[in-house]
Formats: sequence, C-alpha cells, structure tokens
Amino acid sequence: MTTEEKINRLRQELREHNYNYYVLDNPVISDYEFDIKLKELQALEEAHPEFYDPNSPTLRVGGEVTKNFQTVTHDFRMYSLDNSYSKEDLEDWEKRIKKLVDGPIEYTCELKYDGASMSLTYENGTLLRAVTRGDGFQGDDVTTNVKTIKSVPLKLNGDYPDRFDIRGEIVLPFEGFNKMNEERIELGEEPYRNPRNTASGSLKLQDSSEVAKRPLECLLYSLKANRLPFETQYEGLDKARDWGFKVPKEARLAKSIDEVLEYVNYWDTERHNLPYETDGVVVKVNNLQQQEELGYTAKAPRWAMAYKFKAEQASTVLNQITYQVGRTGAITPVANLEPVELAGTIVKRASLHNADQIAKLDIREGDTVFVEKGGEIIPKITAVDLSKRPAGLSMTNYITHCPECNTTLVRKEGEAQHYCPNYEGCPPQIIGRIQHYISRKAMDIEGLGGETVALLVENGLINNYADLYTITVDQVIPLERMAQKSAENLVAGIEASKKIPFERVLYALGIRYVGETVAKKLAKHYKTIHALIEASAEDLVAVEEIGEKIAESVVQFFTSEENNLIIERLKGYGVQLEISAEKLANQTDKLVGSSFVVSGVFEKVSRTELKKLIEDNGGKVSGSISGKTSYVVAGDKMGPSKRVKAESLGVPIISEDEFLEMIS
Ligand code: AMP
Ligand code: ZN
Repeated sequence: MTTEEKINRLRQELREHNYNYYVLDNPVISDYEFDIKLKELQALEEAHPEFYDPNSPTLRVGGEVTKNFQTVTHDFRMYSLDNSYSKEDLEDWEKRIKKLVDGPIEYTCELKYDGASMSLTYENGTLLRAVTRGDGFQGDDVTTNVKTIKSVPLKLNGDYPDRFDIRGEIVLPFEGFNKMNEERIELGEEPYRNPRNTASGSLKLQDSSEVAKRPLECLLYSLKANRLPFETQYEGLDKARDWGFKVPKEARLAKSIDEVLEYVNYWDTERHNLPYETDGVVVKVNNLQQQEELGYTAKAPRWAMAYKFKAEQASTVLNQITYQVGRTGAITPVANLEPVELAGTIVKRASLHNADQIAKLDIREGDTVFVEKGGEIIPKITAVDLSKRPAGLSMTNYITHCPECNTTLVRKEGEAQHYCPNYEGCPPQIIGRIQHYISRKAMDIEGLGGETVALLVENGLINNYADLYTITVDQVIPLERMAQKSAENLVAGIEASKKIPFERVLYALGIRYVGETVAKKLAKHYKTIHALIEASAEDLVAVEEIGEKIAESVVQFFTSEENNLIIERLKGYGVQLEISAEKLANQTDKLVGSSFVVSGVFEKVSRTELKKLIEDNGGKVSGSISGKTSYVVAGDKMGPSKRVKAESLGVPIISEDEFLEMIS
C-alpha cells in the first residue's frame, strides 16, 4: 500500500468510527484504539503534508480563529414556525389546510429541539459551509466552529444530491452543560443560565479550539434542494441518516390529528428522559407535493405547526432563604423549599441568583412559589403565588454581613452579586482557594482531596496554599482517617507539584477570571511572575484577548501584600514561577506586531508547527486575509481565492523558506 492509500484508508476508518460513536451512539472500538489510529494518521499527515485534506478527521480539534463572521445569504430561506397550544389549535390548523389540498394528509411528528438553528450546505458530498439562521434570509458563516462538532459529517456516503442544505439544531446536552457550569462556578464566574443560549453563544466564539472543547451536538431534521430524491418528509429523514447525519430517532408518522396528540402526550412527560432540552413537537405535512401546494405565509410554512409543551411546574412553600459563600467571596442566595416532586425528582433547593432576583420576584420566607426545572442541576423559582401569601409576611431583607465571617458585604457597581471582601479571613474563601490550587487542572496534587484541605485548615495546619509545602507526615497522621501511607502520599504529592509548569501555577493561584486559557496567554506573554506583577492594567489589556475585567482582577490580586508574600514563599519552595528555560529558548519577539495567514501545504514543517513557530516568535495567526494581515505564508496548493485576495490587498506572499529565514 502506498502512503497515500494508507492515509486515505485511515481517514475513512476514522470517519466510520466517528459516525458509529457520535451519530449512532454505538462505538465498535475502544477510545484507546481510536486514539491509536488517530495518532497514526496524525503522524502520517505531519510527515506528508502533500496529502493535506481540510476534511481530515484529525482537523476536528479546531484552532482557526475568526475575528468577524461573514454574512451569507441562504439558498433557501429559513422560516419560523407557527405555534399551537391545544388540541383545538391543531384541529383548526387541519381544517385550514384540508381546504387547500386534496386527498388524505399524513403528518410527520418530530420533537422541537431547543438550541440554535443551523443550515449546513453540502456540495459533492462535502461540507461547504455552516450558517446560522440570522434573520432567515441571511446568517453568519460559522463553518470553522461547526466543523469541530463531531456528529457533523464532513464527507457523506451514498446517493446524496450534488448540492443541498440540511437544517437542524445545535444543542448542548444537559450533561455537558452542567459540567461546564461546575467549572465556571469553580472559577468564580456566574454560571450559564441555560443550554440553548450557551449553544448559540458557542457558535460565535472566535477561537474554534474553544468550541471543540464543548460537547455540542447537531440534530438534523430537514432537507432543501432544487430537486430531492424522495417524496415525503419521513423518507427524507431516513435518507439523511443514510448519508451520515445525526437525525433524531423520535420522529413518527401520524395519520390523523388524534395520532399527533398521542405523540404529543407521550413526549410531554417522556422528554424529561432525553439528554437535551426540547420545548415542543413539530408537526409537518408528510407529503412534499402537498407541502408545495400549501406554501408559506410571510413568516412560516403553512404545512408545519409547532405544539409547545407547558413547562413542568410545581408549587411549594419557601421555608427559608440561606446564603452560600464561594471561593471568590461571591454570595449566592439559596431557597430552601418544602420538598416537592418535579419532573420525576424531589426538589428541596432552588437558586435565587442574587439580590435583584429576590427583589424582582418579591419573594418572602413563607411564600408559596412556583418551581420549574429544565435539565439544569438547580431548579429555578419563576414566580410567587400571591393568592397563597399569608397575611403579615415581612419583605426579604438581603443580608448585609457575611454569614461565615460577619464582614460587611460589598457590591460593585454594575455587578449582580454581593461579595464578602474578607479575602484573608473568611473560612470558605480560604478553603476554596486551596481546594482550587490542588485541583486536577491546577496543581493536580495526588493524595490530597477537598475534604482533607478543609480538615487541614480547620486544624490550623494551613491557612493558604504556600503553607501546603510546610506540611510534614507527622503533622497529618493524627488527623481523622489518615494512615502512615496516605500521609506519605500526601506529602509526596505536594512535593511533586513543584514540577508543574508556570502556566498551570498561574491558573492555580485562583485569580478571579483567570481560567486555564487566560493563564496560558499570560504565562506566554509575561514569562515570569515577576513581569506579571509589574504589569499595569494598561499593559495587560494590550495583551491579546485580555479585557479590562481580567486586567483589573490581576492587578488587584498582586496589590495584596499577603498574596505577594505567598508568592515569594512559593518561589522559595521551588514552585515554577516562570516559563522553563527550555520553553523560553524556543521563543523570541521577532514577529511581534505581525499577523500571518497560512495557506497550502508545506515541505519542511507541518501547518501546525508553522503556526506554533509564528506564535512562539510573537506573531499572530489569523484564519482569513484582511487589510491587517502582514504576510501570507504560502505552501503548495495555496487556495486560489486566498491568492487573489492577498494580491488585491497588496499583502506580501512569502514562501516557507522565506518565513523560516525571518525567524532564524
Ligand atoms: P420559532 O423559533 O419558535 O419560530 O421555531 C422555529 C424553530 O424551531 C426553527 O427555526 C428551528 O430552529 C426549530 N426547530 C427545532 N426542532 C425542529 C424540528 N424538528 N423541525 C423544524 N424546526 C425545528
Ligand atoms: Zn466572609
């Protein structure tokens, strides 16, 4: 077999495994075996850039950055749907359409997925572009981001039309959404409110590698083309499945509105067992010929109707409002409820978000309230049942002092949350910071868990993360549940953390708003903690992707005497507070201020390496050519449209060798 054949065979195999895993939910090989094959392909592709293929399964990890999403006109307008809420509404609709078409009408019933609408265009079996709904006529081209969603096929199988659009919904399953929120809470950021907004926000992220990390899915339900190789909506769903799309299996045919209602009633409760949010049913006239006869109103097809589920609600008594203090000092009010069953689970607590929310609902202890549950971990209170309010309930006064340390709370202009400013002395803040420091993505200290941290603090053995490095085996053995062996592991784990690289230490410090990505950017830019400490807010915002909020937070962190002392101590213990010499040796400022676009395939280095070289030397990599592009590095098979664009804008096109010369 030639190398090219080998590459193609691996690509095909991996595509099939992706399809089995992400579309059919039925993997036939282990993740490990998949990884081995992927690595094998990656190695071959790196060694043989001449076989570059933009649709290779290795390119699902993203990396391209889009500054401005381009507006694209849809080939077929994306309509909205008319809504119905009752049996009568549906029967009226049926009466109306029966006057307009002859013969019996069958319906396809589908679930209405609550996400971001998406239109994918395929040409000759490969994904050409992915466009948001926008105003229905025009949307934003978000192809680079959508390509990272593994259930979107980049190449199709079978007898697909030459060119067609397929419509669907990008959704974020509850599991992934909840996990993302756990991470946000951990970082001291406000959690996302619901999966739908988070899904549509994800599509507009500039950095596609960030999108790749989000567990988005694309569920498809409708095909548009000048000529389609089937006659009904239901057959269309089957076809789309054959071609490789993830088409939900819940669709059913119904011969009458009564059968439609059976479907609605079934899913009204059953939908709570689905992994993602649905807010209704979409009923579609099955026959495409009949659809055409019915046509469209100014806004929606006459041949389809949405039926909205009523949100699952329960009413119960609010016993008490309590307040939690997070690692960053943020206060979260919590409603403690009389336990009530809601969508199959017992609910005892609900989030009240902040003081404004409490004021807006005018919610008082003793009130009867309505609780609603999406798939989020914490249900929400949507309203107070004023008809049940007992006489004489007093208005809720938001707490003015920290429930843990009694310090007066503060609330910054423009922020929703109250904070306990007692950074140095408030127990949940002290414990939370150390727990963050040792967490997996931070210092990843083996042998030490969150509960032990609390125990160590409560026993006065530590008060900040620098103290960790002073702990001895003899000190921890007397603690609950600590044997000799586990005490030794704990101390060894702490010792090992001295090797964790600077960027992760920076994240571990727990500076508000400094997540993993920001920590990496700061580490790369400043290289040492000392340089970062010296940086002013103005310096910081000049760094790419660092906004004012982050800059202020960093500056504030380092104005604290205590933090500076802790950092000095960490340095003394041997924790990595600068980029390692080895990493530094490969970095220069030679390309600072220059922006590069890379196009084509290269001989001496792979595209990934090339991009890394640009960044390591201080340059920026961009996905598309604009007036701001300094150079286009062109390899073999550079895209002709890129060449025309570069030439028309007068952007110099340089070769791989010329580029390597620049940094040598
Ligand atoms: P609306 O935005 O309320 O007018 O509802 C129309 C939207 O419902 C469409 O733009 C789609 O994004 C979405 N939708 C979700 N599931 C389906 C489905 N099975 N069929 C058609 N549209 C759907
Ligand atoms: Zn406090």
